[in-house]
Amino acid sequence: MTNASTTAPMAPPAAGGKLAPSLVGLSRPELRDAVAGLDVPERQQNMRVRQLWKWMYNRGVSGFEEMSDLGKDLRARLIDGHNIARPTIATMQQSTDGTIKWLLRLADGNEIEMVYIPDDDHGALCMSSQVGCTLNCRFCHTGTMPLVRNLTAGEILGQFMLARDCLDDWRSDGPRNRPRNDQGGGAPRKVSTIVMMGMGEPLLNYDNVAQALNIVMDGDGIALSRRAITLSTAGLVPAMERCGRDLRVNLAVSLHAVRDEVRDVLVPLNRRYPIAELMQACRDYPSANNARRITFEYVMLQEVNDSLEDARELVRLLRGLPAKINLIPFNPWPGAPYECSSNNRIHRFARILNDAGYSAPIRTPRGRDIMAACGQLKSESEKIRAASR
Ligand code: SAH
Repeated sequence: MTNASTTAPMAPPAAGGKLAPSLVGLSRPELRDAVAGLDVPERQQNMRVRQLWKWMYNRGVSGFEEMSDLGKDLRARLIDGHNIARPTIATMQQSTDGTIKWLLRLADGNEIEMVYIPDDDHGALCMSSQVGCTLNCRFCHTGTMPLVRNLTAGEILGQFMLARDCLDDWRSDGPRNRPRNDQGGGAPRKVSTIVMMGMGEPLLNYDNVAQALNIVMDGDGIALSRRAITLSTAGLVPAMERCGRDLRVNLAVSLHAVRDEVRDVLVPLNRRYPIAELMQACRDYPSANNARRITFEYVMLQEVNDSLEDARELVRLLRGLPAKINLIPFNPWPGAPYECSSNNRIHRFARILNDAGYSAPIRTPRGRDIMAACGQLKSESEKIRAASR
């Protein structure tokens, strides 16, 4: 466990000696309650909420001192009783391919990982939804880590805000800002898309993930479009329906096998929601149309799930579904029970999918040298704990 001296710098303790509660991740009504708790007169509350929202999510400031239009008194009360701190950075590593991995420390000392994958002048931020994971997928390194807890909405959103801080990626309309290479709305942000593909199963922490993503999509703040967000699930069928109804972000499904006997082993959640049920949930996913295809992730494991018959069965399963397949070469980790399929087998597999009319790019592993690639995320502290056991 981490010791107190390395935990996040927090605002001074609020009354009662508890840590000052963060405003990051509160919905507008919750933020209004917090403002009301600071004796802001009722007729001013909505205005204060609008101002706070803009400072936090549009300007991206990290302290109340900068919120110049709030008035000195209110600023002082906010500084006393609240914070807008992000998770702290325990370590940051940059891969030779530009990928950045952060080990982040939460206020209670737990740690999670976050990865930024740049692509020319924009990039994807891969965020975590839980500390650890309960799914135990056989090929996933994160899966060997026991779940410690769900992240709060503030901790999920805090990852995004921290990435924008680190990459100097908040755009403000203020005169002090460098002009951006303009194409209408300006150059793309460095963090232009979000993938919920870090540690954890986002649909097992649905409420907090939804609250954080709703704030990310809110037009008065960060204003990322739902098309810029992809949520990846191992196939929690009941929550997929909810996600499609309420959140309507892009869906990625970690399929990885086309037969229940194999998928039961690779993704044990399959024993609860077998392939037929999962595929039905995909067909029912409301946003699944040709413009917004569902992505199926398929990790390539030598002689486990990579035969020609497997590829043909995959085509059969996907028939009639607007889909794209991401073939992910298995990223090895120490002690992993599988090997990555050979190049030949991966290409053969891809060709069958392509011939059937599906886009099936073979994902280039990113950040392998810093263990930031898919399924390699696992916090340092956990590794140290595991080693000492
Ligand atoms: N629980 C969610 C979110 C995690 S996403 C889900 O399962 O979709 C992480 C993605 O990386 C998943 O598709 C996962 O199956 C894949 N992955 C995990 N370990 C991997 C490894 N060692 N090599 C390649 N991909 C892996």
